[in-house]
Amino acid sequence: MGFLLKIILFGVAVYAAWKTFHRWKGMWDKFVGNDQPARSAPPPPPAQPVATRRTAAIQDTVQCAGCGAYIPAEAEKCGQCGRPQSPGRRG
Ligand SMILES: [Zn+2]
Repeated sequence: MGFLLKIILFGVAVYAAWKTFHRWKGMWDKFVGNDQPARSAPPPPPAQPVATRRTAAIQDTVQCAGCGAYIPAEAEKCGQCGRPQSPGRRG
């Protein structure tokens, strides 16, 4: 038996195995219903960093104890009656 004949037999065997594998794979794909090509899922959009943080437009207000007017919490005293804010509310 020549060496070339062994090579040829080996190649034929591999070819047959490959064909058989593909044939069975095709049958299996049809059996499980996975015949359609793999769907190419679009890549998810990159997460955009929150560049612009929405600053609170609504200013924190407190009600004046003297006149009932709403004054900004940062104000030291009421703009209407001049009464200083109650120290208990802030700081
Ligand atoms: Zn006031």
